[in-house]
Amino acid sequence: MKKVAIIFNGGTISMKVDEKIKAAVPSLSGEEIMQMVTGIQGVAEIENYTFSNLPSPHMTPKLMLDLSKLVQKLLDRDDISGVVITHGTDTLEETAYFLDLTLNTDKPVVVTGAMRNSDELGYDGPFNLATAICTTISDSAKNRGVLVCFNGELHSAIEVTKRNSMALNAFSTPNFGPIGIVDNNRVIFYRENCKSTHVKIDDIKKDVALVKCVSGMDSKFIDFVIKNRYKGIVIEGLGRGNVPPLMVAGIERAIENKIPVVIVSRCFEGRVFESYGYLGGGKKLKELGVIFGDILSGQKARIKLLIAVNHNDDLNKIREIFEKDKYEIEKTE
Ligand code: ASP
Repeated sequence: MKKVAIIFNGGTISMKVDEKIKAAVPSLSGEEIMQMVTGIQGVAEIENYTFSNLPSPHMTPKLMLDLSKLVQKLLDRDDISGVVITHGTDTLEETAYFLDLTLNTDKPVVVTGAMRNSDELGYDGPFNLATAICTTISDSAKNRGVLVCFNGELHSAIEVTKRNSMALNAFSTPNFGPIGIVDNNRVIFYRENCKSTHVKIDDIKKDVALVKCVSGMDSKFIDFVIKNRYKGIVIEGLGRGNVPPLMVAGIERAIENKIPVVIVSRCFEGRVFESYGYLGGGKKLKELGVIFGDILSGQKARIKLLIAVNHNDDLNKIREIFEKDKYEIEKTE
């Protein structure tokens, strides 16, 4: 029987309603959660680890790096087939993508959680955990990067996002749809998925900022970011990757200050591209030296830029890290 390591890391899956506060807080241990995943001993041998008992708004990139190091240590063991990580759903996609970029493995790594806590009717934690474990022992889940398993669906860490604040199927994949399902304990993949190139980092010493564009916006936030010595800026731009005209001067100042600027779109689906030639249009931004983040969301581009600047100071290297991953799906035979 294959051995799977499960790392418990807080979130709603570990929560109960506190009688005094009358709201959910983390309280269950990994062992207590596992007792509700009935029958799993017939599927895989499980080793439990506890990383934290945090709600996911308390996760930080530094904690993500510590988690990544723990996961890598477990993956490096010959007897471990793969790793499941539980996580609060709010920042789950950020941690999943952080792991996707920093882990060096072809073994399955699956992140899951719950939308309902253990005191609510229809607690979805045990089901999500069971399907995540089934995925981790499946050979077809190898070499796919980090996966997110929720509500019987499988998503790739690069592609997935939390799109609903309360539904059991809170996670979805814009642009492409889920990569597979877990049906009756069987893992079925329908297509290939986007893959990340591994980037090694040992520490997180530099921070990057995420700025969201709105109509009529000027350069004040960008100037704030420059003044506060952030080492990179992700701009969640408009449409195909455009910004209001008054933001252009700020972007120019950031680039003069050798701060990498990445543009992505605030649209839910689609890629950024240098389509428009007016002031603030993508073509002009490209000419200034702005890096295009393809299909990445603002929060994912921020994770990638954060990892890139902590890996290397050289602007060309940072650009290369950003641009070498092509978010195009190769056809499965
Ligand atoms: N706020 C919770 C968290 O992210 C939600 C969840 O776990 O689903 O920890």
